[in-house]
Amino acid sequence: MSDDFSPRTLAAQALGRIDEDTRGLVPPVHLSTTFIRDPDNQYRAGDVYGRPDNATVREAEAVIGALEGAAATLVFGSGMSAAVALFLSLGPGVHIVAPRVMYWALRGWLANDAPALRLHVDFVETEDLAELKRAVRPGATKLIWLETPSNPLWGVSDIAGAARIAHAAGAWLAVDSTCATPIFTRPLALGADVVMHSATKYLNGHSDVVAGALAFARDDALCERVRAVRKAHGLILHPFEAFLLTRGMRTLDLRVRASAANAMELAIRLSNHAAVAEVLYPGLPHHPGHQLARRQMQGSFGGMLSIRARGGADAAIGTAARVTLWKRATSLGGVESLIEHRASIEGPGSPCPPDLLRLSAGIEDVEDLWRDIDRALAG
Ligand code: PLP
Repeated sequence: MSDDFSPRTLAAQALGRIDEDTRGLVPPVHLSTTFIRDPDNQYRAGDVYGRPDNATVREAEAVIGALEGAAATLVFGSGMSAAVALFLSLGPGVHIVAPRVMYWALRGWLANDAPALRLHVDFVETEDLAELKRAVRPGATKLIWLETPSNPLWGVSDIAGAARIAHAAGAWLAVDSTCATPIFTRPLALGADVVMHSATKYLNGHSDVVAGALAFARDDALCERVRAVRKAHGLILHPFEAFLLTRGMRTLDLRVRASAANAMELAIRLSNHAAVAEVLYPGLPHHPGHQLARRQMQGSFGGMLSIRARGGADAAIGTAARVTLWKRATSLGGVESLIEHRASIEGPGSPCPPDLLRLSAGIEDVEDLWRDIDRALAG
């Protein structure tokens, strides 16, 4: 299928691939873990064994790669394993710059586990390019990691600006674009070298697959090392999950646009709610990242927002306890709306204020979502 088609068309038809053997519209799930050698001992068909690679996984990789404009894409058993594979592939002794506010479990790994592997990480406000530039050590810094918009305060980082800083210092730029999705942001086109997704979220979109992806600007030595880490550590996604991921991505464009429209409407209404002290959403004009998000996110602002309860932590937890339509659960990016008291899950040391509720707007009718959260906030 031609790359000239829009992301919505490419995803809807999963690049138009069919099962050539049966002419089935939907390609089958390839489960085989091993493959027959040719009589002369070669593997001309390409596949050898299930741990390094799999045909159904390649289908999902092709769709993500087309959406991100990538030269190569690798799918993993989770977003965490995708990110960790990239960090491991850098090798020991390198310096990494990462955001102060980012997905909490990955920040924990970088702060607590990476040093034992001689990966030295500095955490900075990546929203501030001057601070980012000061943190980079030319010659030593190998990778800048961004997450934008970033969990759970929804700061917006300038991908093109960070790419310039990284490349001037001889470093790579990698972007966790999970919450932006390839529909709203294309980091590789803005100069990033690698894009990471927790495909568990919007890409799959139905809260029934845990998966991750790395999409590379070039199929180069870095990509080859990550491929080797995935193979050695057995981090590849199972074919069943890869099949579900491809199926989920067929509706990615519709889902994320519906979620973003709901998030925008809820952000406006919640800004005027007596029980809400603050709404954190890049779509609101007073948000510090609003103008940048407007340029970088193609005029949309995604489906994630947070609110701070005027009554503090107890009021926030009480609100989450009273909703009936919103689901009180961790994760994000599914068709169903989720609400979560983030500080409870992040624990001590989290930059997340205790009065904060993170909202993942799903695709339900916004009036139903509003009635439920309005009533829950009122107590
Ligand atoms: N990045 C972001 C922004 C996330 O929200 C998450 C999970 O919540 C991850 C990475 C990790 O992904 P996974 O849970 O698929 O390992």
